[in-house]
Amino acid sequence: MPIVYREGLPKARPPKKEKPVDGDDPKKPINWLIVGVAFLPLLLAVGIYLSILTPGKPAKEDMDRDVCLLRLQSIVELKEQFLSAGEVRRGATLSESLMEFLEEHKLTTCPAGGEIDPGAIGAAPSCSIHGEWSGIETD
Ligand SMILES: [Zn+2]
Repeated sequence: MPIVYREGLPKARPPKKEKPVDGDDPKKPINWLIVGVAFLPLLLAVGIYLSILTPGKPAKEDMDRDVCLLRLQSIVELKEQFLSAGEVRRGATLSESLMEFLEEHKLTTCPAGGEIDPGAIGAAPSCSIHGEWSGIETD
C-alpha cells in the first residue's frame, strides 16, 4: 500500500446569490444541502481526475519507494528486537542466519531495483537507490 497523503478534495464553494431582479418576487431559498449532495459525485470525479493528472512522480515510483521504506523499517525493527533481547550488541554485524532471514523475506532488495544494506545492529539500513533510512516520511 502506498503511503501517499494527498490533499483533500477541493472545497465546494456555493455560487453567489443573485440579487432579485426588480419586479421578480424572491423565490424559495435554494436548499444548499440538496445542491451539495447533487454536486458531490461531480466533485469526487473532478478530485479523482485531478489526482490522476497531477504532475509529479509516477505512481509506481512512489509505491516502490514506500515499499522500500517499509522494508528498511522492518529491518530497523527486527534489529531493535534482537538488540533488546540481548542477543546481539550494538554495532555488531548481522549474523548469517539473520541475513538469510532478511533475504528470504525479500528485505534486502528494493522493488525499484536497488540493493538494501541492512547495516550493523543499531545503525540505519540503507538502499542503493533511496538512501539511508531516516524514518517514514510523509510528503
Ligand atoms: Zn529502495
